[in-house]
Amino acid sequence: MSSIALRNVEKWFGNIQVIKGVDLEIAEGEFVIFVGPSGCGKSTLLRMIAGLEETSRGQIMIGDRDATAEPPSKRGLAMVFQSYALYPHMSVRDNVGFPLKSAGLPAAEIAEKVDEAARVLKLDAYMDRRPKDLSGGQRQRVAIGRSIVRDPTAFLFDEPLSNLDAALRVEMRYEIAKLHQTLKSTMIYVTHDQVEAMTLADRIVVLEGGRIAQVGSPRELYESPANLFVAQFIGSPR
Ligand code: ADP
Ligand code: MG
Repeated sequence: MSSIALRNVEKWFGNIQVIKGVDLEIAEGEFVIFVGPSGCGKSTLLRMIAGLEETSRGQIMIGDRDATAEPPSKRGLAMVFQSYALYPHMSVRDNVGFPLKSAGLPAAEIAEKVDEAARVLKLDAYMDRRPKDLSGGQRQRVAIGRSIVRDPTAFLFDEPLSNLDAALRVEMRYEIAKLHQTLKSTMIYVTHDQVEAMTLADRIVVLEGGRIAQVGSPRELYESPANLFVAQFIGSPR
């Protein structure tokens, strides 16, 4: 069974169509990356999967459920926002536990899940700090921790590393790869950075003007780009 499936999905903003009939099956545990130039529809497609953007036509399946009309809170997915979405007045512990507190879980259960997330993300030493007293990479880990605690079906990332400096970006790329190995969760990740896509993805989805130009493993895209657009974007020597 696929974890998430898109069936001929379209997105219209008024009379402008920005997603033009996208079909995609994402397997459980797969790391899929949407890549493409600015404005090609990556964020819109991800937000449609998350339920943050209404799907104009087509279907979004999560497991065997038709989730097309479900609100974000019912989808069981975690959208990992950039680290600046942390609550500045809360400790790391409270930031990570916040979604569970909002959901009304008992304190003991919250503490247990927060500790587990802290262990996976190596945040143990920072639990009582405020976000302003953390490095960019640590903040990003807190943002991820906040989504781990809900045991999501899949993690959705929209350019999570784009506001980090180059060295940190490389470090966090490695952290995210490790996180995927540890959690074995489905991850859908948006980036306009080819290198990020080539190093992290099981499969890359290249978007061009709201359509899929090609889907394949990094190697397939590199060795057999479907067209010049993909070749130029991936940087293969065609
Ligand atoms: P990407 O994330 O690949 O840079 P987006 O998904 O943000 O691209 O945007 C795809 C297209 O949809 C762009 O042309 C953008 O201007 C348009 N768009 C995105 N959000 C809206 C909106 N709320 N209203 C109208 N147009 C939008
Ligand atoms: Mg975007």
